[in-house]
Amino acid sequence: MSQYYNANRKSNLYDPKSKYPFRLSRSKIDLFLKCPRCFYLDRRLGVGQPPQMPFNLNSAVDTLLKKEFDIHRAKGSAHPLMATYGIDAVPFRHTKMDEWRDALRGGITFIHKPTNLNVTGGIDDIWVGPAGDLIIVDYKATSKDGQVNIDADWQISYKRQMEIYQWLFRRNDFKVSETGYFVYCNGKTDRAAFDGKLEFDVTVIPYNGNDDWVEGALIDAHKCLSKTAIPKASPDCDYCAYREAAAGVEGVAPSGQKTRTTSAGKTTKTNAQGKMAL
Ligand code: SF4
Repeated sequence: MSQYYNANRKSNLYDPKSKYPFRLSRSKIDLFLKCPRCFYLDRRLGVGQPPQMPFNLNSAVDTLLKKEFDIHRAKGSAHPLMATYGIDAVPFRHTKMDEWRDALRGGITFIHKPTNLNVTGGIDDIWVGPAGDLIIVDYKATSKDGQVNIDADWQISYKRQMEIYQWLFRRNDFKVSETGYFVYCNGKTDRAAFDGKLEFDVTVIPYNGNDDWVEGALIDAHKCLSKTAIPKASPDCDYCAYREAAAGVEGVAPSGQKTRTTSAGKTTKTNAQGKMAL
């Protein structure tokens, strides 16, 4: 039995009859937007995608950045990166800072009344500008050649993450700047040897968020959870392409048809009566 994967979860399932707010993290909202079917299988039926192994090196970078910004938070001073990038801000001090950063204990939360969803998110950092506007900050770590950016299609998840945090803080009655920042650490591989050290270039990338979509996404996610039938799968998902291919070579297509490999190496499908499927 895997220590990492509970293939048939019985907890944290949406019950349409329950009066209690249903907890929904920002990553599950992102999952809904990527594929309503996987979201439904996970939150309604208890079958989630297998988890990825923990990214320990990324977590180490996050931990060290938090420590570094916390030194300036305690002193009320700007971090040198803020001066480098001309950002007029200091790390935000608040009694709930540790709670907001702890995704496992809920992070920052808001109960969205129309759906009774308890939306949650664990932030990396908050800075504050001179007028008291909060600036959402997210740390990212990678190792790639060239400059880091947030322009790739898959990085829409980063942008949505920032926008959900902005939405959460606004719903908690904070004034929030539309500009947030990604503190992006890029591990350098152009050194002569490892020598027990990995050095990083740190780039601060601004992003102007727009949280207008969040309300609609919550309504749609709630409708999806309330359905009695499993929604359709996303057409371009690698996991489902894998499942289809695996089921095909194993002889049972996901549709329930049986497959047969001909002597020419071609795979054909037959229906329950053994007739060739078109
Ligand atoms: S397409 Fe399939 S595997 Fe992919 S996210 Fe959706 S249900 Fe999950």
